Amino acid sequence: MPSYGGHGDGPKTGGDRADRRIPKGAPVSEHLRVVCPHCDTTNRVLRERLDAGANCGSCKQALLSGQPLELTHATFDHHVAANDLPLVVDFWAPWCGPCRTMAPAYDQVAAQLASEARIAKLNTETESGIATRFGIRSIPTLIAFRNGREVARQSGAMDLPGLLRWIRANA
Ligand SMILES: [Zn+2]
Repeated sequence: MPSYGGHGDGPKTGGDRADRRIPKGAPVSEHLRVVCPHCDTTNRVLRERLDAGANCGSCKQALLSGQPLELTHATFDHHVAANDLPLVVDFWAPWCGPCRTMAPAYDQVAAQLASEARIAKLNTETESGIATRFGIRSIPTLIAFRNGREVARQSGAMDLPGLLRWIRANA
C-alpha cells in the first residue's frame, strides 16, 4: 500500500470520528505527518517507523529529538497545522520563576513522550504576537493542539507526574 507522494487529503478513514488516540499495541500501519524539528519539513512516516526512530527525509536528522522544540512566529502555525501527533506548547518566558522551575521536568517529558506527542515551547517575551493571539494571561501556560486546533489548556507550573498526566489525558 504505497501511499507516498503527498496527494490525497490526509488519512483514509471516512469522517472525523474523534479517535482521541491510537490504542497502544494496536496493529496500525498508517502514515503520520511529522514536522521536522530541525528544518521544519513535513515528513510522512509510518507510525511504527516513528517509534523505531526515523530521520527527516530532507535534513536526515532525527524526527524525534527528545527535546522541547523552540517555536517562533516563523514556525508556530506550520507545526500546529502539519503535525498528526498532538502538539503541546509551553508558553513561558525567561524572567518567569515558575517557568524555569518547570523546565527540567518539561525536558524529561519531551524525552519520555517523544513518539506520542510533539513537545514544544514558545518564548512569550520574544514571540509576544503569538502569546497575544492565544490570550495568554499567565505563564507558564500549556496548550495542547490536535489537528490544528486547541483542545486543552492549563496554567500554572506542574511537576513531572503532573505534566505526564495532563498531557496523556488532554493531548
Ligand atoms: Zn529536517
